[in-house]
Amino acid sequence: QEKLLEVRNLKTSFFTHLGEVQSVRDVSFDLYKGEVLGVVGESGSGKSVTCSSVMHLLSEPGKIKEGTVLFKGDDLVKKSEKEMRRIQGNEISMIFQDPMSALNPVYTIGNQMMEVIRTHKKINHKEAEKLAIEMLRLVGIPSPEERIHNYPHEFSGGMRQRAMIAMALSCDPELLIADEPTTALDVTIQAQILDLMKDIRERLNTSIIFITHDLGVIAQLCTRVIVMYGGMIMEEGTVEELFHSPQNPYTMGLLNSVPNPDSVTKERLEPIPGSPPDLLHPPKGCPFCKRCPYAMNKCLEELPAVYTLSPTQKSRCHMLHPEAPAHPAFQKGGK
Ligand code: SF4
Ligand code: MG
Repeated sequence: QEKLLEVRNLKTSFFTHLGEVQSVRDVSFDLYKGEVLGVVGESGSGKSVTCSSVMHLLSEPGKIKEGTVLFKGDDLVKKSEKEMRRIQGNEISMIFQDPMSALNPVYTIGNQMMEVIRTHKKINHKEAEKLAIEMLRLVGIPSPEERIHNYPHEFSGGMRQRAMIAMALSCDPELLIADEPTTALDVTIQAQILDLMKDIRERLNTSIIFITHDLGVIAQLCTRVIVMYGGMIMEEGTVEELFHSPQNPYTMGLLNSVPNPDSVTKERLEPIPGSPPDLLHPPKGCPFCKRCPYAMNKCLEELPAVYTLSPTQKSRCHMLHPEAPAHPAFQKGGK
């Protein structure tokens, strides 16, 4: 499989007046062509910051401290802002939770789309309009030739997210980064947008990084998953591996808080008690040690190593050390 993106040892911090907030603390992963990679974790886990770092879209006072982000073999960390503007929207596009924040309320949907298109493509007004209409049709907006004259506030929330997706795809990017694009939508609309994303992946073969705090969404859409916590990747694997044989207590905790769709009795969800670590003073050991039911003394003292469990599954946890004590609830090596 061909790699589209290779992130290596990425460290991103926010240099605030209180000190350095280490939001991303050594993250490495690959994205293959045509795959949908899920990035899951609670808020503050570093998933959005990781992707904003890739895109050079970090807000002040964020800075990439170390690492490389190879996109088709070319290091994006070294690119100038001017070079990145050519890549943003053209080769890599991003969509966000709140499309209103990315849409300008004073321009029509059509004008905004045409502007994006004409920034990257040498085509005239008429052709850009035709392409905008085509893209709106592709994402399921009815009568797009009329709707392009609408302003963002004349679209419903779901329609706005569709328009954002249309805009993001209008220059035929190879990579689409979606940061919680369905989180603000109600369940029915959320399902429609997920179907649309699946359809896009199949029809356009766009590689997608899908950021979410919701493992249910991951199961529906993704092929592989990265689980982030405290600015680190705790576990990585195929959807099958992570759902059926998770090898990290944090992944297990997340899975326990997903409602079971097969269950008749509405089980009470158990969110993981406690809160994420303060990344202004990151713990010296495992980032999850304060909340982990398996935590040992070693977990407070030493950062756990990453253990490779299969060609696709890796986990960062002291429980996977060959000499770690056995625990009845932790099935090592999965099934
Ligand atoms: Fe829990 Fe320790 Fe594993 Fe961290 S290293 S997840 S604290 S058992
Ligand atoms: Mg976020």
